[in-house]
Formats: sequence, structure tokens, C-alpha cells
Amino acid sequence: MFNIESILRPHVRALKQPVASQDNRTGETAIFLDANENSFGSPAGGVYNRYPDPLQQELKGKISHIKGVPAHNIFLGNGSEEAIDLLLRACCTPGEDHVLTVSPARSSYAARAQVNGVDVRNVRLTPAFQLDIEAISEAVDGHTKMIFICSPNDPTGNSMDREDIEMILNNFEGLVIVDETYVNYSRQRSFISELTEYPNLVVLQTFSKAWGLAGAQVGMVFGSEAIIDVLSAMKLPYNISTPVQELVVQALGKIDDVNAWIKTTVAEREKLMRSLGQLPFVKKIFPSDANFLLVKMTDAASVYAYLANNGIAVNDQSQQEMCEGCLRITVGTPEENSTLMEKLNSFGR
Ligand SMILES: *Cc1c(COP(=O)(O)O)cnc(C)c1O
Repeated sequence: MFNIESILRPHVRALKQPVASQDNRTGETAIFLDANENSFGSPAGGVYNRYPDPLQQELKGKISHIKGVPAHNIFLGNGSEEAIDLLLRACCTPGEDHVLTVSPARSSYAARAQVNGVDVRNVRLTPAFQLDIEAISEAVDGHTKMIFICSPNDPTGNSMDREDIEMILNNFEGLVIVDETYVNYSRQRSFISELTEYPNLVVLQTFSKAWGLAGAQVGMVFGSEAIIDVLSAMKLPYNISTPVQELVVQALGKIDDVNAWIKTTVAEREKLMRSLGQLPFVKKIFPSDANFLLVKMTDAASVYAYLANNGIAVNDQSQQEMCEGCLRITVGTPEENSTLMEKLNSFGR
């Protein structure tokens, strides 16, 4: 049975859990003279003169309710990037250990590893953009501490076969980090329901995409209590500020709006897929479980520049291996998608 202790760096194993700095404050406390805060108030109003809750208890309670995962299995980070950074620092000794990524993928896993002086081994996806189980098992050795899998994958848009992820979870002795940033747009079930099954599973989700809070930068980590405790012990004490905690609590109360946006986005994605398919310079549109489409074009660079000149930014993926000639296009509002198609229909005319 996997035990996080077995892959932690020794100094991390010794870290103590944070305590709420307000531990000495009870419901009856009326005068707060314990934290050297400004007792007059905040020029910005609110109670911003007080430190944030370092344990983010109200927020985690709400997330727990919506996700059906106990609060002790949830960690919140300053974006998903903080969580990735913490996991790397918890488990990987620079110059000794490495992590495994699959490509094409978002560059952030490798970037975080590089910042930490941790080597990255990379295995290409199959031509169908699925996990190459054999190549992954060949690339793994005793110093492989974690495997990053993004599903639905950025930039390819497809979900990874569930059985393949389960195979890795069952056989790999390190952490399997499943980045589910785009899961709200997918037909696939989230892996958060499997947390009790797999002690080496870490699921990443975020408020940056479907929840419309990229500006707030809050990433969610779901994992065993032992893994969550490690991250909580390592994090900066006040990694989620009070206004951000408040914003996310507010947003969680508007889940119906969020679900309506998701529904519209999925419908628009299918519509956009059909419209793009009619363009003579579009060679291939990859099936997507996310809020974007990866589109192969005869001349991606020209289309990219043409759209930019018309005030439309898309993402150029043509430098990425296996994505040659591809642009990644986010599904916008119905109006934005119409404008995009209008422009594309007059490309080269
Ligand atoms: C957008 C995105 C994220 C979100 O990162 P945040 O730091 O939470 O904004 C994470 N993973 C992938 C693959 C993404 O595309």
C-alpha cells in the first residue's frame, strides 16, 4: 500500500501542521490584541485589517459540500501552480529525483520542475493523444516521484482513457497527478470519487476556467488526508487572501450560473467544430472534452497573424511536438464565436 511518507524528503516529513492564528480567539472575543493588526480598521473597508483564515475553513466547507469530498481531503493554492510547486518540493530532491510528464502538454509542470532544479522525463502520447503505457513504464524508475497527467488534456482537448490512468495508479509507486482543470466540460467522470481507492492519487482542479475566476487564482487539490496535510504544512501561512476567499465563497453560491455557462460552452464548442470544419484551410479538428479546440490548418501562422490583426487572439501551438500547424482556440460567447467565424470565412479573400 502506497504511503506518502515513503516519498517525502526528510525535512518535509518533520514539518508541523499550521494552526489557525486565531486559535486564541473564540466567539466571545471582542477585542483582538493578539496579532498586531490595525485595530482602527482598513482604509478599504471590510475586515481587511484582520489576517485571513489560514485554514480557509468556510471556503473548504463550501467546496466540500459541492464536490462531495471531505474538507480534510482538500487543499487550496494560489492557483494550481502553487500546488504543483509544493508537491515538487515535498517529494523531489534536486539532482536526484525526477518527474514524468507526457506531451503534448501544458508547459507548466516542466517549468515548475525546472525552477526547483528537478529533472523532467517526458514520454510522448500515442498518435491518438492517449497515454503510451508501455513507454511510461519503461521511463519510470526508483527516482520517479510523480507522473503528471492532464485530462482533458491541454492543448489536445481529449480525455485520457480512464483504464490507462487506473493502470498507472495501480502500478506506480509515486504520486499520480491528474490535472482536471477542464473536467467540467467533459463527459468523463472526475477522479475525485476515487480518492479512497488510490492513496497515490492527487487531483487538481481550479477556479480559473469553468468557475470564471482566473483573476482570483485559486487552485484545488484533492488527495488523501496524509497528502493534504503535507501541503498544508508547507504552504505560505496566508496563501489565499481574505478578498479572494470571499470572492470564491460568493461564486460558489452561483453554481447555477456556472452550470449554465458550461452547458452553453459545450453547445458552442460543437457548433464551432462544425463551422470550422467547413473552412477550406482547416485540415483537422481534434475532438474536445474541454472549452477549446485544437485545429490543424494548412497555414496556421498566417491565420494566427490575420486573426491578431483583426483583434482576435488565439493560441499558437505549432511549435509543440505533434501539434505542428495547430492553433488552440478557446470557445467564446456565441457572439464572439460568430465574429470569429465571420473573420475566418473571409480569410484569404
Ligand atoms: C488553465 C490551466 C490550469 C489552471 O491554472 P491556475 O493556476 O489554477 O490558473 C491548470 N492546468 C491546465 C492544464 C490549464 O490549462
